[in-house]
Amino acid sequence: MFRNYKAVGRVLYGRNALAQLDDIFEPLRVDAGSYVLFLLDEYFEGNELVDRIPMKDADMIRFMDVTDEPKTKVVDALVEEVMSEMGKPPVSVVGIGGGSVMDYAKAVRLMFTNPGSSSRYQGLDLIKNKGVHCTVVPTISGTGAEVSMTTVLTGPEKKLGIKGDYTPADQVVLDPDLIKSVPDPQHFYTAMDCYIHNVEALNGNRRTVMGASLGRESLHLCQEIFLSGNSRTPENDEKLMVASYLGGLSLTYSEVGACHAISYGLATVTGIHHGIGNCIVFNQLDEFYPDEVKEFRKMMEINKVDLPKGVLKDYSSDDIEKMVDVALTLTFMWAHVAGPEWESVITREKLRDLYMKM
Ligand code: NAD
Ligand code: ZN
Repeated sequence: MFRNYKAVGRVLYGRNALAQLDDIFEPLRVDAGSYVLFLLDEYFEGNELVDRIPMKDADMIRFMDVTDEPKTKVVDALVEEVMSEMGKPPVSVVGIGGGSVMDYAKAVRLMFTNPGSSSRYQGLDLIKNKGVHCTVVPTISGTGAEVSMTTVLTGPEKKLGIKGDYTPADQVVLDPDLIKSVPDPQHFYTAMDCYIHNVEALNGNRRTVMGASLGRESLHLCQEIFLSGNSRTPENDEKLMVASYLGGLSLTYSEVGACHAISYGLATVTGIHHGIGNCIVFNQLDEFYPDEVKEFRKMMEINKVDLPKGVLKDYSSDDIEKMVDVALTLTFMWAHVAGPEWESVITREKLRDLYMKM
């Protein structure tokens, strides 16, 4: 059986596309008291970008703290706060920021129409009711959250996405101007999430022609950008924004692999963020992706990026075992990497050794 995938609804793409944001909400503001909920990365508090948001009187704006990756309790508290203040759901929830803020928007929009805590819905197809309209505007590129079927949340028990037909945003705005202020090396780390998505989509048992075609073009764009000697040009910003979009799509028709499984273990125990965490893990994965890991190191060298070393030196052997436990729960990723008999190859010892090298 093939899944009948739900894709993102509309894509507004081009330099300064942000100026057209109001056109998106205009048809939604039909009832008296309609309002839009804007969630912005806290980086933009006091930034000129705020003046470019087409706010109407009743609209709400919240600046999201992204020190930690998105949490179910923050989602739940925000929905409760908005409902008690406004008495009804917004006509669109807009996430302007990176993977963190876009995931917040994608999760918050679902929790206006589905009862209880968002942690109840971490998993596949657990959301039963359509959410309110959702718009995402990436301001840093690489995660593919702008196009994916997932919103990744850390709950009381696990870091796991809410995934299903109701999760993709209704509207994406891709404006390459928005990513030029991202500082180094954050720009590189998040972009490498995209590079790694492609490597993983292209290598494994769940590879399809659809996923590989999207992934190959996205990989090619990443190579053009990060082997060029100057990754921070307006043209490269545009390429990266498109690469992130295509890379996110490629995963719909394939699967992430070893790096993401191991990186989820790392993140769950240490809280190390997804972009940098993936880089730390990928740098140890010669056995799985030998040519790509070499190329990744070349990109680091050209772009003068250093990775922290010994990140787990202060963690106990129990902590390492917990990371291994989490990595091993991601059975679908391992089946993609090593086939149905993966358990005979992906042993606890192998994973433990990899963590110890980080
Ligand atoms: P992020 O959203 O956490 O942002 C990283 C940093 O960049 C933050 O400090 C932020 O303030 C800053 N920033 C963002 N835009 C900026 C700009 N224009 N100028 C200056 N600074 C800016 O990082 P990310 O790597 O985009 O997202 C990581 C999150 O995405 C993780 O929580 C991860 O789990 C999630 N993720 C989700 C998916 C998905 O499919 N939903 C896929 C991969 C990762
Ligand atoms: Zn990723």
